[in-house]
Amino acid sequence: MFKLIDLPYASLAPVISDETLSFHYGKHLQAYVDNLNKLIAGTEFEGKSLEDIVKNSTGAIFNNAGQILNHELYFTQFKTPDQVGGNGASLPAPTGNLLKQIEKQWGTLDAFMAEFEQKGTTLFGSGWVWLQTNADGELSIGQYAGADNPVAHVMPGQTGHLKPILTFDVWEHAYYLDYQNRRAAHLKELWKIVDWEVIEKRFTK
Ligand code: MN
Repeated sequence: MFKLIDLPYASLAPVISDETLSFHYGKHLQAYVDNLNKLIAGTEFEGKSLEDIVKNSTGAIFNNAGQILNHELYFTQFKTPDQVGGNGASLPAPTGNLLKQIEKQWGTLDAFMAEFEQKGTTLFGSGWVWLQTNADGELSIGQYAGADNPVAHVMPGQTGHLKPILTFDVWEHAYYLDYQNRRAAHLKELWKIVDWEVIEKRFTK
C-alpha cells in the first residue's frame, strides 16, 4: 500500500499559497495514491516500488504511479523561502559538482534557469519539466507530458534510464489558483524555494 508522503514544511507561501498546497497535496496527490492502491490490488505490481511500476506499466496504473513519483520528487525538493535564503535579492543556488556541471554545459546558472523556465513555459498542456542526468553525469532538460518521468526513458545510444534531479509541475492545478494563466511567472517564482541540497544529493547519488 502506498501512503501520502509527509511534507518537510508547513507552508511555502507566498511562492505557493497554502490554498494551492492544500489542494495539490491533500486532494490531487492523495487521489493518485488512493487510485493506484485500488488499481494494483491483486496485480503483478502490488508490492513493487514506484519506479518499477513506472518503468513497466501503461495506462491508468502508469498515470497514477507516475504522478505519485513526480509529486514526491516535487514536494520534497522545496523549503520555505526563509530556510533556503530565497527571500532577498539573491536566489538559492547549487554548489559543488552540480554547479560545476551546470556551468560546464550552460555557461552560467542563470542560462540554465532561463532554459528550464522556457522549457516549462512551452510544454504544451499538462506535464512536467525536468533536470535529468544520465549514467555519465551529463545533465539535460526534459519536457514530459502527463504523468511521464525520466526514469521511464533511455537516451538514444545509451543503456540505463535517466535519473530525475529537479522538476517543476506545469499542470494547471499547480499554479492556477495563485497565478491563473501566468505559468511563466509561477515558474520564475519557484526558484525562491528550491532546496539545492536535496537536488545535489539526487545528482550525486
Ligand atoms: Mn501536480
